[in-house]
Amino acid sequence: MALKSGNEYIESLKNLDPKIYLGDKKVRLLENPTTMTVVKANAKVYDMALDPKYEEVMSAYSPLVEEKVGRSNYIYSSRDDLLKRAQMAVLTSQVLGTCNYRCPGADALTALASTTYEMDNKLGTEYNKRFNNFLKHVQKNDLACSGALTDVKGDRSKRPTQQDPDMYVRVVDKNEKGIIVRGCKINQSGAIASHETIVFPTTSFREGEEDYALSFAVENGSMGMTYISQYTPFTAERALASDIRELGNPEYGVRETSMVVFEDVFIPWERVFMCGEVKFTRKAVERFTRSHRMNCGGACKSGFADLMIGAAQSIAEYLGIENASHVRDKITEMIRIRETSYACAIAAAVSGEEEPKGSGVYIPNEMYGNVAKVNSIYGFWDLMEMVGDIAGGLSVTAPSERGFKNPEISSYLEKYLKAAAPADKRLRITKFIQNWIAGLHGAGTWHGAGPLQTQKMAIYRDFDLENAKKMAKELAGISEKEESRAW
Ligand SMILES: Cc1cc2nc3c(=O)[nH]c(=O)nc-3n(C[C@H](O)[C@H](O)[C@H](O)COP(=O)(O)OP(=O)(O)OC[C@H]3O[C@@H](n4cnc5c(N)ncnc54)[C@H](O)[C@@H]3O)c2cc1C
Repeated sequence: MALKSGNEYIESLKNLDPKIYLGDKKVRLLENPTTMTVVKANAKVYDMALDPKYEEVMSAYSPLVEEKVGRSNYIYSSRDDLLKRAQMAVLTSQVLGTCNYRCPGADALTALASTTYEMDNKLGTEYNKRFNNFLKHVQKNDLACSGALTDVKGDRSKRPTQQDPDMYVRVVDKNEKGIIVRGCKINQSGAIASHETIVFPTTSFREGEEDYALSFAVENGSMGMTYISQYTPFTAERALASDIRELGNPEYGVRETSMVVFEDVFIPWERVFMCGEVKFTRKAVERFTRSHRMNCGGACKSGFADLMIGAAQSIAEYLGIENASHVRDKITEMIRIRETSYACAIAAAVSGEEEPKGSGVYIPNEMYGNVAKVNSIYGFWDLMEMVGDIAGGLSVTAPSERGFKNPEISSYLEKYLKAAAPADKRLRITKFIQNWIAGLHGAGTWHGAGPLQTQKMAIYRDFDLENAKKMAKELAGISEKEESRAW
């Protein structure tokens, strides 16, 4: 099959029956207004791959199936592929204003292509063969894959074997047909509306923790799986409001995630890509995070920044302050932050490497990927501050646009909320801004692609401090030979 259209994707979801809970209710994926935001965002991404305007970035030729596939299902095999993948992350953020939902899955597929190749070479296993068969199935059927890394983790000061053993997804049984898994992955972007979920270790594991060194693919809604969706004020408003046009991002909503519970789920061996190889977990996780920090950490947030900059400039014009020097200065700062994040993502792509050699799989540069993520998350809070400053207090105090429909207050709203532009335009863009600065995006951007401390640890570890010291001392005239630690 060639690439699916958005409608064909939605049609294909009718074959799935995920057990989804939202609040205290069980909901149907294609019937609930909140779960439908994920479906619509995914459908848009499918359509973009078929749109001549976007297809070069959104699709790629796969030698594995000898046809064009969606870029989310494509294994990066050159620096140019990495660059296009970063461009895709920017583009989907610009078009959707929310998650494209398939980054974690795409980055898990690439990390698996590389790591299963290495495991087979070193251990004589057949994971890579299995993985390639699975990938063919995904590419041929143009399936949406979510990526499930984040375990619930319980008490963070304890290893998985020192607490309730189900705090990290694990193997509880094995037989000749496959494995049985239990546990829960959390914060799972778009898992409810994916065809497949790629389960992957959340961190590196040690000897004695073999049950947790685990990667597999599982079909959405397999027996024993339960999805417990996030619930936020946006969920409530979407459910209750008669008119959702003022919801900030009415079509695609906020980034929707869920807990995914695995209650003794059976996974056939042909879908298992790692099972017990603790020594390979560190490399697998590192390869995932290197791609993910370029895509989700740096590039995706540049697309979000474009929307915030556009909103900031629009509200400035609506208020009649666009020529004020401090407003221009803030817009300029916002652009600087946006371009720095994107530049770091590009640097990660163009200095990516084949890993391991001979695998044909390209992984972005680790330092630039980490720096992209750290820059963009600090920058994101600055963007929120600046657009909030320009929009004024109304960015958090705005009444509802629905008031225009009530004759008792509509004339007050029209009269007292007009500025250089009419009140309705001002209110609409203000609600759009509210979605960015007083919603879920701050902490969401911060934690997505891993907690800050892990990036900082890697940045410190990977920088060549010895060489930097040597260069500084050489210029300062301090001889390394003469120097002893006992100064
Ligand atoms: C919007 C959004 C979408 C996401 N999408 C996905 C997805 O699709 N797939 C997926 O797998 N994940 C996803 N994530 C999860 C994301 O990767 C995690 O939130 C992130 O890794 C942080 O993990 P956590 O939330 O468990 O927080 P924690 O890891 O618990 O972090 C909380 C704090 O505890 C600290 N901490 C944690 N452990 C230790 C320790 N041992 N010692 C000292 N300090 C510690 C951290 O540094 C941090 O300061 C998403 C997250 C968000 C917000």
